Amino acid sequence: ATETVLPRRKKRFAGNLKLSYRAPLTLLRGYRQFLFDQYGRTYLDGYNNVPHVGHCHPRIVAAAARQNRLLNTNTRYLHPAQVEYAEALTSRLPDELSVCFFVNSGSEANELALRLARAHTGADDTIVMDAGYHGNTNTAIDISPYKFNGPGGRGAPDWVEVVPVADPYRGPYKGSDPEAGRKYADHVRVAVERIQARDRRVAAFICEIFPSVGGQLIPPPGYYRHAYEAVRAAGGVCIADEVQTGLGRIGTHQWGFETQGVVPDIVVLGKPIGNGHPIGAVITTPAIAASFANGMEFFSTFGGSTLACVIGREVLRVVDEENLQAQALDVGTFMLDGLRALQDDHVMIGDVRGSGLFMGVELVESRDTLEPAQKAASYIVNRLREHRILIGTDGPFDNVLKIRPPLCFTREDASYLLHRLAAVLREEPCRI
Ligand code: PMP
Repeated sequence: ATETVLPRRKKRFAGNLKLSYRAPLTLLRGYRQFLFDQYGRTYLDGYNNVPHVGHCHPRIVAAAARQNRLLNTNTRYLHPAQVEYAEALTSRLPDELSVCFFVNSGSEANELALRLARAHTGADDTIVMDAGYHGNTNTAIDISPYKFNGPGGRGAPDWVEVVPVADPYRGPYKGSDPEAGRKYADHVRVAVERIQARDRRVAAFICEIFPSVGGQLIPPPGYYRHAYEAVRAAGGVCIADEVQTGLGRIGTHQWGFETQGVVPDIVVLGKPIGNGHPIGAVITTPAIAASFANGMEFFSTFGGSTLACVIGREVLRVVDEENLQAQALDVGTFMLDGLRALQDDHVMIGDVRGSGLFMGVELVESRDTLEPAQKAASYIVNRLREHRILIGTDGPFDNVLKIRPPLCFTREDASYLLHRLAAVLREEPCRI
């Protein structure tokens, strides 16, 4: 299929839509943590976080089919499934976050979150973390340094203040510094002051609790507590984008913000909650939700559809009944231990970080200069594909191996990945 599909695709899709791998992979079927190509070859999926409970999970497929036969309509009518899903989702969050808005993607959810923050505060200005990524629609790009500073980007709009990403490995304050969290948060405080010095006010501080496109980073303890204090003192709203980290992936907690002991004012959810179906959600306080009461109604044709809600509800049940958060913690910890053992043998592995099944392995040419080893990262991803394991790269220099499989990934899968990775690391292009 690849030989015939590729040229046809090139004609009909814009050239900037990149494919994974130099030799593209045609995938025709998926089951849990496995993907199958046109020859029936099996690949272990160590990369795709969207099928949170596993590709084509039979219970999700069955729930979708059942509801598809009955009805799929929008939130202008009453249906118990819609309310039940909103109740189930909010019951997993702190009490004050009790109102849901349903959309179709992470980008839409971030747009809506910012719109809510602006309606609530009457302000426009927004603080974002460098290398942050919040989506591909206009305003989502405006708050994503990864996009507006990337190829073809138009730079930060005048209502955006960028603060350094809280990176305890590559950033100015290292993980070994107990004050690192506060020091990074001081940049947020200064950004607030810069906004005020221009006679403007802060609408929002938005960030991925663990920056993912930025290189699978785990900000130091205390960062969000101090940053949120500074933003709230100035009347701003704190938005947590949990599109990558949410719903148990990080193992120790259900949500990333819990690791830092903070409660955001708005939580943004996407990818995992739909297990591959286009479902996004914005969850906030009654007071912030009420800022739309002046007639600024929010409605989405597909957001919160009966079908979406039934699927979303079933995803939550599967996460609980299959104990997937506990599995993410167990398998992720096992895998991180294995990766750290590899780090002892390979100087190229500068840093191993992660929590649960959210992991990053940063490759460097030198542990002193931290020069990114981007070619080696790309080599490893391509060689692992030949071993039928899928992972990816990320980070501003594309030198971070990104491992974030579906949560049904097992210790056996992790062992297999570690063994193959160990073999590839011994090959010539990975020696320094
Ligand atoms: N936020 C984060 C943290 C993301 O990683 C992404 C997607 N990679 C988005 C938002 C955008 O989500 P979507 O592609 O569903 O619009």
